[in-house]
Amino acid sequence: MHIVITGGAGFLGSHLCDSLLEMGHEVSCLDNLLTGSVDNISHLMGHERFRFYKHDVTEFIYIGSQVDAVMHFASPASPRDYLELPIETLKVGALGTHKSIGLAKHKNARFLMASTSETYGDPLVNPQPESYWGNVNPIGLRGVYDEAKRFAEALVMAYHRTHGVNTRIARIFNTYGPRMRAHDGRVVSNFIIQALKGESLTVYGSGKQTRSFCYVEDEIDGLIRLLMAPDTDDIHLPVNIGNPDEMTVLDIARKIIELTGSSSKFVFEKLPQDDPKIRQPDITKAKTLLNWSPKTHMEEGLRCTIAYFKEKLND
Ligand code: UDP
Repeated sequence: MHIVITGGAGFLGSHLCDSLLEMGHEVSCLDNLLTGSVDNISHLMGHERFRFYKHDVTEFIYIGSQVDAVMHFASPASPRDYLELPIETLKVGALGTHKSIGLAKHKNARFLMASTSETYGDPLVNPQPESYWGNVNPIGLRGVYDEAKRFAEALVMAYHRTHGVNTRIARIFNTYGPRMRAHDGRVVSNFIIQALKGESLTVYGSGKQTRSFCYVEDEIDGLIRLLMAPDTDDIHLPVNIGNPDEMTVLDIARKIIELTGSSSKFVFEKLPQDDPKIRQPDITKAKTLLNWSPKTHMEEGLRCTIAYFKEKLND
């Protein structure tokens, strides 16, 4: 298949490029490099089945050849990034999704949209099944990301229902692993870098809020299964792809200190506005429809991620 990946130079996008090329597909990677980096795809340059286009997908996308699938992964995705880039985040979620799904419709290609657990906001039910409508503050600081993704889901469903586009919506929960950006402010990368440098780990709020972390390799496997799954009625509705292993922020801080052998302590800082108190995916649907569940234990995934950041810090 010829697969177009928007945001292909980002964290998840670049791992998708790798896996799809390994599977024998042809990949066109589009990225405006706002939060993505050529470092993530430099090893693919010159590959005969890989092409990179520096392009902002809020603008019209022209691809001359046949396209079999479009995977829309372009967006600032860490809270720090979308707080710094609120309008870009809204535009790529709205206009970028419109252009990407327009390409899929024109090419009669499958379309998979990277949605998010943020569609559930600060959830009032735990774990979160796909049927939960969420608890989002539309005008809060996080609203720019949450509402952009919720609009994008609505747009994707409308293109499916109105134009019959073969669409998929993946609700991605917290994912970690090599190629996370060192300074995008996410908890796993922040804590690993702080621990490796012997600095205090910045725990926001009480640290009792929870998240559920999926290793990138598992996440990519789930996303590709969702893209390739046969066309049934259920497959067009959102599917949670994440690891249900829920833990507190303090738990993850302790784990990272243990695995790095660091003597760092904690420092408590202010909790960001609307920071969800709990988060855990209900993955019954992914298990049933895709025969998928995450395989990597947190300790193993963290060891690989720590090794990656150690090397980055030595560069
Ligand atoms: N967090 C923290 N210290 C940090 C970075 C994040 O305590 O240095 C907390 C943050 O407040 C949130 C959780 O860790 O409760 C996960 O944050 P992240 O930015 O990784 O992603 P989110 O799940 O909030 O989108």
